Amino acid sequence: MQVFYEKDANLNLLKDKRIAVIGYGSQGHAHSNNLKDSGFDVVVGLPEGSKSRAKAEAAGLEVLYTRDAVDWADLVMVLVPDELAPTVYKNEIEPALKPGKYLLFAHGFGVHFGKIVPPKDVNVFLVAPKGPGHLVRSEYNRGRGVPCLLAVYQDITGDSREIGMAYASAIGGGKAGIIETTFKEETETDLFGEQAVLCGGLTALIKAGYETLTEAGYAPEMAYFECLHEMKLIVDLLYEGGISNMRYSVSNTAEYGDLTRGSRVVTEETKKEMKKILAEIQSGQFADEWMAECDNGKENFKRMEAEGEAHSIEKVGEELRGMMPWLQEKTLVNKQAN
Ligand code: NAD
Ligand code: MG
Repeated sequence: MQVFYEKDANLNLLKDKRIAVIGYGSQGHAHSNNLKDSGFDVVVGLPEGSKSRAKAEAAGLEVLYTRDAVDWADLVMVLVPDELAPTVYKNEIEPALKPGKYLLFAHGFGVHFGKIVPPKDVNVFLVAPKGPGHLVRSEYNRGRGVPCLLAVYQDITGDSREIGMAYASAIGGGKAGIIETTFKEETETDLFGEQAVLCGGLTALIKAGYETLTEAGYAPEMAYFECLHEMKLIVDLLYEGGISNMRYSVSNTAEYGDLTRGSRVVTEETKKEMKKILAEIQSGQFADEWMAECDNGKENFKRMEAEGEAHSIEKVGEELRGMMPWLQEKTLVNKQAN
């Protein structure tokens, strides 16, 4: 796999381009501020009455209504929630897109699954940082960056790849590495990762462990520490040096338990289910289901979210975190500002 860096990017290609960043959420605030600090001509596009407007203006950014921002710009980066993107695109972006413009995304979801169908005469590509927006911003401020994926879907003017490389570099990605992929690969692996491992797999694992201990009569506080709190310590070791690094650091007893018990928790059966989940993503079934859920006012989504919030692990956690004030120091997210 080829990796590109700052030296491979020609930032001059962006010098005469007007850039509109649509949305000022996790990714939007990071992209717009990094682009501005890299010296580029950037405005933020937001709808009327947006709560994000004050934050963007406080950061010294110019804010326009989405359609005006698109109309003004040569390059439009769409950083609105994926479930809203098709509607925002249809109503506010497409009407102001002119031939030869550059339409950028940070995730292939809308385009890959056909929820957004860009006209044949605009350039379409994605620059997806492999990290949350708050890290994209904080790493940039430290003179570093977060690795970015780059994929070209449609190239009209012949320079989409180079423009994408420059954009990725301008938000800090060139310092960490830019990896080329496709819309299909980026979208499908991203969805699979969050469903089966990162969000879905992990929270189900934590909850099942917590419930097993509490149902056996152990104190919820102990169960919380063992099954949730300590997850970070283990993940830090994995993040820093992989699975062997974690096994090097934990006790021999823990390592033996890991080696002999792990595959009894995540079994061949689990892997079969993972393959099913992947197939649902590939066929577009998941995307259709999620869009239908959004069209129905997210009824199931809200119910399941509320059930999750009411789980005793959340109550116990809140109390225990109150005993550990250092957990709240130096957080990346500051809801007032970003
Ligand atoms: P977010 O929910 O944090 O922010 C969304 C923003 O869109 C808000 O500022 C909101 O005001 C704005 N918005 C809503 N409706 C709008 C409209 N009509 N016009 C203009 N702006 C509107 O979203 P996010 O997590 O930053 O995700 C944006 C994109 O980045 C998505 O495609 C997502 O998949 C991708 N992405 C996110 C992450 C991440 O860690 N959050 C990482 C990589 C890629
Ligand atoms: Mg992801």
